[in-house]
Amino acid sequence: MNELNSEEVAKYEIENRKNQINNNFKALLIKVLGFSEAESDINCNKFNDLEKIKIISALRLLQYSENINKEIAFMGVLVSIFVVESLAASGKQGKKDKFVDFMKENLQKNEKIELLSHFLFSDEYKFREGPVLPLRHVMFKEFDCDCKFKNKNLIDNVDLCSSSKTSPLCYCLEWLNQNIDKLDGYLDTLLRYLYEMRSSIVHDSLPVLFLPHEEGSLMDAYSINGSFRSYESYMEPKEYFKIIKNCISQYLKRQNS
Ligand SMILES: [Zn+2]
Repeated sequence: MNELNSEEVAKYEIENRKNQINNNFKALLIKVLGFSEAESDINCNKFNDLEKIKIISALRLLQYSENINKEIAFMGVLVSIFVVESLAASGKQGKKDKFVDFMKENLQKNEKIELLSHFLFSDEYKFREGPVLPLRHVMFKEFDCDCKFKNKNLIDNVDLCSSSKTSPLCYCLEWLNQNIDKLDGYLDTLLRYLYEMRSSIVHDSLPVLFLPHEEGSLMDAYSINGSFRSYESYMEPKEYFKIIKNCISQYLKRQNS
């Protein structure tokens, strides 16, 4: 058998490298995002090699972030925001808007509601001048002003906001379900707050915990340009990562060939 000449060797190496990229790409779609073999094949044909390498890096990072020890899940959440940024805003300006748009476009309605249900916030306040308690869902103020809704549902005073996983329930989610055209607007607010938390760590070097590491809730605060906002989170890390992974799956499936 004749030996390959240098041109054939180079061609063989390029082919070999392409196969390696495709195999890694498909394996990660199956392992990290739960795609079927057929889905991974379809998606493999949609992207060029450079795009695939970027997605491979993002999925590897997501895989590590999800496997970070439960007690430091906040590191995983921070990394997952970087993963979304790497897909939505790599090398681009306006990362906050791109992060928000990516999430809004790729989350399902029930996932948006789930995220909104698990976080309560204060208004922004200066150090030692807040927070004004209790913390509220982002849609609370509009619900609270909706006399028509309150009269119809025989609601008097609502003292507390709470996550859907705890009792008693507040009425914010019920109100949102009946005003579902407001869903994306309030999700926008929540996502911007999550991005502020990321920026509190990255730009202000002020640690933020994001989620409780065991069942129950977490009270914490983050900085925004010298001010603060307090938040309470009820979300379990595994629920959060499930939503993030679905969101990234949707993004990949929505891309055209
Ligand atoms: Zn509420």
